[in-house]
Amino acid sequence: MTEYTFQAEIRQLLHTLVHSLYKDREIFLRELISNSSDALNRIQYEMLTNRDVRDLDAPLAIRIRPDAEAGTLTIEDTGVGMTREELIENLGTISQSGVKSFLEQANGQNVVTDIIGQFGVGFYSIFMVADRVEVHSLSYHPAAEAVMWISEGEETFEVQASDRSHRGTAVVLYLKEDAHEFLETHRLQNIIKAHSNYVAFPIYVGEDENPANAQQALWRRSSSEIEDSEYIDFYKSLTLDFNEPLFHIHSTADVPVQYYALLFIPPSREPAIFSPRREPGLQLYARKVLIQDYCTDLLPEYLNFIQGAVDSEDLPLNVSRETVQANRVMANMRKAITGRVLRSLKELSQNTPEKYVAFWEEFGPYIKQGMITDFDNRERLTTLLRFYTTKSEDELTSLDDYVQRMQEVNGQENIYYVLGDSQSVVSRSPHLEPFRARGIEVLYLTQTVDSFLINSLFEYNGHKLQNVDDEKLDLSEIGELQDDAQTVEEADVAVEEADLETLRERFTNTLGERVQSVRISKVLTGSTSPARLVSPEGTIDRHTQRVYQMMDREYEVPKKILEINPQHRLISNLVGLLAENAPAELLDLSIEQIYENALLLDGLHPNPAEMVARIQSLMEAATKK
Ligand code: ADP
Repeated sequence: MTEYTFQAEIRQLLHTLVHSLYKDREIFLRELISNSSDALNRIQYEMLTNRDVRDLDAPLAIRIRPDAEAGTLTIEDTGVGMTREELIENLGTISQSGVKSFLEQANGQNVVTDIIGQFGVGFYSIFMVADRVEVHSLSYHPAAEAVMWISEGEETFEVQASDRSHRGTAVVLYLKEDAHEFLETHRLQNIIKAHSNYVAFPIYVGEDENPANAQQALWRRSSSEIEDSEYIDFYKSLTLDFNEPLFHIHSTADVPVQYYALLFIPPSREPAIFSPRREPGLQLYARKVLIQDYCTDLLPEYLNFIQGAVDSEDLPLNVSRETVQANRVMANMRKAITGRVLRSLKELSQNTPEKYVAFWEEFGPYIKQGMITDFDNRERLTTLLRFYTTKSEDELTSLDDYVQRMQEVNGQENIYYVLGDSQSVVSRSPHLEPFRARGIEVLYLTQTVDSFLINSLFEYNGHKLQNVDDEKLDLSEIGELQDDAQTVEEADVAVEEADLETLRERFTNTLGERVQSVRISKVLTGSTSPARLVSPEGTIDRHTQRVYQMMDREYEVPKKILEINPQHRLISNLVGLLAENAPAELLDLSIEQIYENALLLDGLHPNPAEMVARIQSLMEAATKK
């Protein structure tokens, strides 16, 4: 017999567990059953390729044996078992950093059970109900010897030989006086139904020959027989999410490849706080055997947020974790499942638009990522896109709806969009004035990913997408000036063309290299914006500029064309100043400020604070007696 001391973290954990009052301490059973189920999964997988396994024919099952006389409860499985080294390693140390945060969260609290198990400390929850525990184990390795681990949940544990004669593990709990309720068969069966119903292996309680759990994987049952609550329970037990999934997709196919898929869209893109599923990927089963816990080959990367399980009769049983990827069946499944997910999303958007909006608010950027990376599904993805627009500021709209509405605008062929940091900033953009004035709708593209999206979305159903700051923009033949458009009476700001030209030259000289050119705007008509910045044709990187800026990377302010609005009072005032030979400084400061204001409104100003000194000089001039 050898005595070992628990790792310090475990000692602390045990102390916390033993000295807390537990509301739901029955979950110790779920933890042990889940360990047994893992051990059975592992032996099932091992036997696919390895015939040199002890007790090859032992039925894969879990047995729960209460012994009222001895006051013990035994949880036994025919799983992989553990060697001496494995016992010491697995039940004497915890490698996960989760323990620390567990201890922090559990500190001084009575209700610890909600977080037990979620940090991989499940096994130790037995010390909530037992004051002595023996773990007998015999590994599947033919050469291994049976070993026993004993602990009273204090500082140490002992390891010695065991008389166990067949493969697997038996955990014997010497129940505390106040935990004898866990000797009642009925109570045990109810706990199993509540927490372990879908464990894939039969769980027998006492002498009962019928398993206490339903076992059959939910995905293999017909969806018409499954209650919504069963789907929700399954999702919650898979992810330990307290919230319900947004929706589920349960699908079965036979051609071109046989599979069952049960997929969930979580309520949020952040994984549930205690979710054990930290990595992306779906559970992959081949003929009911769990092959991979996190399979990322079943869906494209942009659909990584989806949780669930896929089970196929067509995957060869001897498929190994390594060869899964190269398998042709996998490629077919991936194609079929991806198509199925996209189709379900489309149906969702048609049948329950409110739910689709909730989906979009959370996962829209992923669909946009798909637009950029999944060329095969581009068309399907395009119909899933949603935007806010100048005519639909609070309600998301599809490109189809946009195109429908644009039929009512005379001569509109293109779909227009404005790029910016946020809707509140973009909606003030000077670029939008002429569109509003003519009743033309503009899409707001305000997410980081939009800058990339727009580089791969050139047209929709034959309608080109055009940036409102496009140099070639011409609205003269499109739409009609609205009654409330802020146009200006000619007489109000009549400026001689020659004077305007002089002012334009002055702008050009003052701004120099910072702009590509300065021109008189044909697009700006209102009286609100004195100027705007237009992107010269061929500046393909104009969207990526914004991304650099958002990522705080060095970037150069792109050289644009400054358009000045001849109808704006500020411009006509400057014409006046120029004619009067006013102080050069005031004129030039105004020109610089007009340019930088336009940069700011386009979200391109590298450092707006730099403008303060100039604004103060201008105010001084304006307030001078
Ligand atoms: P977790 O299950 O989260 O890894 P536990 O503390 O519950 O954490 O278990 C620690 C380890 O002990 C497991 O990862 C597994 O390797 C081993 N183990 C526990 N129970 C069994 C069992 N019934 N059969 C085989 N190995 C087991």
